[in-house]
Amino acid sequence: MEKPRYFCQECNKELEPDQKVCPVCKSSKRLIKKKLEGEIKPRGSIGAKQKRKGFKRPLKEIIKGWFESGDKKKHPKDVIKERVIDREKDIYEEKVVDIKTGKTTRDIKEPLSKHGTKRK
Ligand SMILES: [Zn+2]
Repeated sequence: MEKPRYFCQECNKELEPDQKVCPVCKSSKRLIKKKLEGEIKPRGSIGAKQKRKGFKRPLKEIIKGWFESGDKKKHPKDVIKERVIDREKDIYEEKVVDIKTGKTTRDIKEPLSKHGTKRK
């Protein structure tokens, strides 16, 4: 027997049967689907980059997506991560929402110059 699955109509996130409101976009429009294998890929992400002539790194980067949790103790399920890097306004924002509980577990907003970027 196939259990019906619930999805958010706005952002396609799969919802728990008892979740009336989408934890990601707060929409209450639910979509009930019986079977959807291979059609929806919730573990996707979107990103946007704003490039600037003469500069190697983009002026603005936005990443939002569904990621596998790196900390299974904290997040047994996956998380929705949102990150904004704005080099023009010196902003670093990061938000992590636990998919299962819909709770924001990380909410950072700080100057990019203060953010410890140890990326290569
Ligand atoms: Zn949604």
